[in-house]
Amino acid sequence: MERVEVVVVGAGPTGLTLGCALRQAGIDVLVVDGAAEGANTSRAAVVHARTLEVLEQLDVTPRLLAEGCVVPVFTVRTGRRVLARIDFGGLPTPYPFTLMLPQSRTEALLSGRLTELGGQVHRRCSVTAVRAGADGAEVSMTGPDGQSQQVRARYVVGADGMHSTVRGAAGIGFTGGRYPQSFVLADVRLDWSLPSDEVQLFLAPAGLAVVAPLPGGHHRVVATADTAPDHADQPYLQMLLDHRGPGRAQVREVLWYSRFRVHHRVADTYRVGPLLLAGDAAHVAEPSVRHHPGLGGVGVERCRQRLLGLHRGHVQPVQPVRIQAGRG
Ligand SMILES: Cc1cc2nc3c(=O)[nH]c(=O)nc-3n(C[C@H](O)[C@H](O)[C@H](O)COP(=O)(O)OP(=O)(O)OC[C@H]3O[C@@H](n4cnc5c(N)ncnc54)[C@H](O)[C@@H]3O)c2cc1C
Repeated sequence: MERVEVVVVGAGPTGLTLGCALRQAGIDVLVVDGAAEGANTSRAAVVHARTLEVLEQLDVTPRLLAEGCVVPVFTVRTGRRVLARIDFGGLPTPYPFTLMLPQSRTEALLSGRLTELGGQVHRRCSVTAVRAGADGAEVSMTGPDGQSQQVRARYVVGADGMHSTVRGAAGIGFTGGRYPQSFVLADVRLDWSLPSDEVQLFLAPAGLAVVAPLPGGHHRVVATADTAPDHADQPYLQMLLDHRGPGRAQVREVLWYSRFRVHHRVADTYRVGPLLLAGDAAHVAEPSVRHHPGLGGVGVERCRQRLLGLHRGHVQPVQPVRIQAGRG
């Protein structure tokens, strides 16, 4: 049976970041993901200052900055009228702004860095069971050829998203609920006269709308909706901005659309014996309170520090529990 120090289950932004951090620290890590390829869609787009500080250590931040839009100001408006203007310029960080970059690009840059560090994502490897034992854990997975494989690891990190198999295997509860509204999420080509270095939040009787710049002159539109439609076309987005935006905004093209519901859940604990959780597997929240939508941000950093501490023997492993797995 193959043996490694750490298995990271999931190669979303969380698993990729951890993979880079552990490779950089010289730790033997196996990153596996059930999907044949990375999700190549826009999704979470805001990268906050603390995330840029964390990723600086992995030499990823300059690459994100080279591609993303630097947005130093957050403005709250009703129509064109400014209600509040928040300037991040005074924050005590080398990155006093939010950076706008589609998640697909963040993942591509992290994946490239992992390759540079000598790592790789083993794709089409779906973890089906995790058993914690006296000196680590045994991970069962179905490989690309459909054959079952076993790997032993001292630690297993569940970076496998909200429906985490590892969390289920560890028997960790995921307490919380779901907000009633759904959200419309779209990347559009937009003509309007408002500043391009601001995130604009519009308050309107019909609901909230946020418009933020993206690379390539595109804009991200996020809006609350009682029931977001399956598909949103140009007339729908135009109607939304006409009702909630500053007026005289023209939606030219819808480049990508999705709708989502926001959960607020947190794992009852982030670690049981050799099993750890990070990213959405550990906590999901409303985007504005995340350290990095889609990256688990500071949570990844805590997990990294904890693993490095365990690896160096600075932290005494708690008594492992033996649990039979199942998909979460
Ligand atoms: C359409 C859409 C829009 C979104 N928009 C926003 C947004 O605007 N703002 C925001 O904050 N967040 C948004 N999100 C959420 C954001 O994308 C997630 O928070 C983020 O991807 C979480 O990263 P992660 O690495 O923790 O988990 P994920 O990105 O979910 O990655 C988990 C990975 O684990 C793999 N995996 C799962 N189970 C197994 C298994 N058993 N074996 C092997 N691999 C497994 C999956 O294939 C996946 O690649 C959006 C999500 C979607 C789908």
